[in-house]
Amino acid sequence: MRDIGLKIQPPAEKCDDPYCPWHGHVKIHGRVFEGIVVSDKPRRTVTVERQHYHYLKKYERYELRRSRIHAHNPPCINAKPGDKVLVAETRPLSKTKSFVVVAITQKAGER
Ligand SMILES: [Zn+2]
Repeated sequence: MRDIGLKIQPPAEKCDDPYCPWHGHVKIHGRVFEGIVVSDKPRRTVTVERQHYHYLKKYERYELRRSRIHAHNPPCINAKPGDKVLVAETRPLSKTKSFVVVAITQKAGER
């Protein structure tokens, strides 16, 4: 198991995915953030949605904005829709993926 540079619990399972941040050879760098998995349709890929409030000065109110990114979902983590996950930036893994899921922070249904 490699040290990925984040103070988080490594996954309990092992895998042989080369794109896994724990057992493969991708290195993480740059941004790290939390989001909700909205889709796990493509193989080993999840769509993660992140919501943030954007302040509108003219109206002195906030609007809810959301953004979606694709992240690699290694088999040892295997995030499912509804899970809250921690994703970290990495090198581009495919045309639209340059993030990888490093941990599940909250399982779907646990609240
Ligand atoms: Zn792994």
